[in-house]
Amino acid sequence: MMEVISLYLIFLIIISEIGTSFVMLTAFRLTIGQTPWLPRHSYCDNCHQQLHWWQLIPILGYVIQRGNCHFCRQVINPFIFGSELVIAVATSALANYHLLHDSELVLLLLTLAFLSTTDFYDQFIYCWGLLPLILLIPLTQSCWFRFSCYHVSILLVALLFLIMLSRGLGGLGSGDVELITILLLIMGPCQAALIVLIASVLMLGWWLIKVHPGRQMPFFPALAVGILFVVP
Ligand SMILES: [Zn+2]
Repeated sequence: MMEVISLYLIFLIIISEIGTSFVMLTAFRLTIGQTPWLPRHSYCDNCHQQLHWWQLIPILGYVIQRGNCHFCRQVINPFIFGSELVIAVATSALANYHLLHDSELVLLLLTLAFLSTTDFYDQFIYCWGLLPLILLIPLTQSCWFRFSCYHVSILLVALLFLIMLSRGLGGLGSGDVELITILLLIMGPCQAALIVLIASVLMLGWWLIKVHPGRQMPFFPALAVGILFVVP
């Protein structure tokens, strides 16, 4: 029985890693004006050499190359490697061995990976890309919002605050506001605040180690990691 469970988990991780590679490549290509299917092969951004098959293996490709391009030794941006690692850990930690739940989980993870990639490379979120986040309802068994004075007023105050943060004080992008609004509607104010808190701590860590000094800091990937902590 244990062997069947381990095989199932390995299969699930492989599926989510292949999916992650595909959606992140698609998202990256969209940010530079290319289509997901053209050019047909993957290339190094620096030396434009066509990559070998083993360089494209999720997680392992980066590890084997020790974070540098096999051809020109240019440092590879660790964002995709880090995301693939997070997806692998999240898949194994959050899978509950029910096919429907785990399919929803993988779709949610792929959605978060796609949106995080466009935010990371282009500080842009596709609104339509947020739609699959509705999967949070079956995954968390939560649908907080009801049409009552209490819920509507909490939502309006929170929205006003978020809009102030994105317009008045700067920093928060419209994609972040849309995501936090969806979280408020589905998860409620406590869970949404917890996700924002986790994301803020991650951003503080990012700022302290100054991974990319002077670069605009994308908040969406941090919010995506925060969401993983509230999915049971
Ligand atoms: Zn290269």
